[in-house]
Amino acid sequence: MKRKSNSSSRSAKTFVNKNGYRQFKDSGKYVHRHVEEKKLGRSLKPGEVVHHKDGNPLNNSPNNLKVYRNQSEHMRKEHKKKGKRHITNNNCSATLSGGSASAKHCSG
Ligand SMILES: [Zn+2]
Repeated sequence: MKRKSNSSSRSAKTFVNKNGYRQFKDSGKYVHRHVEEKKLGRSLKPGEVVHHKDGNPLNNSPNNLKVYRNQSEHMRKEHKKKGKRHITNNNCSATLSGGSASAKHCSG
């Protein structure tokens, strides 16, 4: 007799990883990258970085996302100043040198 709303089934397709980012369970793809791709109308290139404007990696609203061509431009424009950091940017250098850059994005 119980009938839950369908909104809950949608969120069950994703989870939050240990770095604080939401990912799809099936593909492992980051939700914020997926949202940005929808917004742009194309696929993101491997080197491209999606920045969270408010620094909250779980705020995947299209308005909160901004794409940069590469990590250095992203860091230079958004994270140069003190106090404007993302919540989780601990292993930034580790993910950058780690090879599979396509799915990894260290700081939003
Ligand atoms: Zn950023």
